[in-house]
Amino acid sequence: IKVQDYRPQAFTDFSQPENVAAYQAALQKVRAELLGKHYPLVIDGERVDTAERLTSLNPCDTSEVVGTTARATVEDAQRALDGAWKAFESWKKWDMDARARILLKASAILKRRRLEACALMSIEVGKNYAEADVEVAEAIDFLEYYARSAMKYAGFGSAETTWYEGEENGLMFLPLGVGVSISPWNFPCAIFLGMLAAPIVAGNCVIAKPAEDSGLIAGFVVDVLLEAGLPAGVLQFLPGIGAEVGEFLTTHPKTRFITFTGSRAVGLHINEVAAKVQPGQKWIKKVVLELGGKDAMIVDETADLDVAVTAAVQGAFGFNGQKCSAMSRLIVVDEVYGAVVNAFVERAQALKMGTGEENANITGVVNEMSFKKISGYLELGPQEGKLLLGGQAPGECGGKKGYYIQPTIFGDVDQGARIAQEEIFGPVVAVFRARDWNHALEIANSTEYGLTGGVCSNRRERLEQARNEFEVGNLYFNRKITGAIVGVQPFGGYNMSGTDSKAGGPDYLANFMQLKTVTERW
Ligand code: GLU
Repeated sequence: IKVQDYRPQAFTDFSQPENVAAYQAALQKVRAELLGKHYPLVIDGERVDTAERLTSLNPCDTSEVVGTTARATVEDAQRALDGAWKAFESWKKWDMDARARILLKASAILKRRRLEACALMSIEVGKNYAEADVEVAEAIDFLEYYARSAMKYAGFGSAETTWYEGEENGLMFLPLGVGVSISPWNFPCAIFLGMLAAPIVAGNCVIAKPAEDSGLIAGFVVDVLLEAGLPAGVLQFLPGIGAEVGEFLTTHPKTRFITFTGSRAVGLHINEVAAKVQPGQKWIKKVVLELGGKDAMIVDETADLDVAVTAAVQGAFGFNGQKCSAMSRLIVVDEVYGAVVNAFVERAQALKMGTGEENANITGVVNEMSFKKISGYLELGPQEGKLLLGGQAPGECGGKKGYYIQPTIFGDVDQGARIAQEEIFGPVVAVFRARDWNHALEIANSTEYGLTGGVCSNRRERLEQARNEFEVGNLYFNRKITGAIVGVQPFGGYNMSGTDSKAGGPDYLANFMQLKTVTERW
């Protein structure tokens, strides 16, 4: 296929009134056409409904039902698995270009429906305009990027092997089989799509289980892929409860691989059950995990204050801190601690709370469980640090009941504190006072996670030291630590943050392939 070189999508400029107006028109269209919609399962290309349903609520106005999805049973999961293996027989024989073409067509459809996808996420998970826009751009990027990655693997012997006289040697890349993709609600369009598009374009069949809180945007994405021509059975859409169908599929002997993005606790559980060989199982399951973070940004005495504070506010409070990449720890060297912290608190105080549809900076967190969990940390925080901002979970805003939590900052936190070590996944930041640069780096590396990190400094040798010694998968200098762009900043962490599989990176597809070396003596 002829394609242009990959280029990430541009983001929309919402300082332009016409872009705001277009977004608001999309919100109206989505309210009229998609609100209250029901998405059944998709098994072998058929829409299959279930007796029970999952209900998706608007987190910014919990009196509003956004829509419903079917709720799969283990029998449905078994059918999905059987059907996917049947579909695999032919899908694995499609050539890479033909599979890539489906992703490219899906990208074209999603580009046309970009605003609708954004608006739906504003209502379903409370994303403001810019957060939703960046996410749909990322979803399109995944399609474009993985389509091109697949094309690089086209044909026999696509990898370099060394010439050997008298023989022909080649390395084949083969799909693994059928896998399950269990995705999160915080990037319910981009990560949901990326985690299934990559294995699928490599020739695998996938059972996609979306998060319970974001079934509608997942159903929307599935519609796009089916419209693009994905054959029946290649993608099985299986909304359901993780502890039921997720557990059934991850332990099943016929599951070949599992790709999961979510909490450390669930990820480690999956890793454990996947490692246990079941009767009739022929392979070692491949597990790709993208887990939590307790991500830190260091500000030293040479940093540009404005750059540092902007980076801190964006990294900490974008989408209410509900990103595994979010800056939940700010480490400031003593010399500039007061100035940086005052400016940070002041900027955070100016953030407006409201709904995603109103394009507020701080919106409702995703669900009641999150609300309660974060509220628990708000209670604990004052025992472990100085409350500098927020600290309340009002649970309503502008007359609407929703999962609203104030942006909250605790100062002078000790590195051993629970709010310094545990992932809160909300708009809560722990600030640390470091004696000097080396102490700051030591605090930064004092968690078991290793996802994102940042340094704001103008001292070249410190940046070079951090490049080598800051233990994270994604390190950023003099900017925010969230918002990795596909192909530009391959994303993923190590230590307890995951298998460092690097979504949106050059080798991501290889996670879903096995290699075979073939030699013929001439
Ligand atoms: N890739 C996203 C970022 O760079 C974070 C993904 C996540 O939170 O799971 O901000």
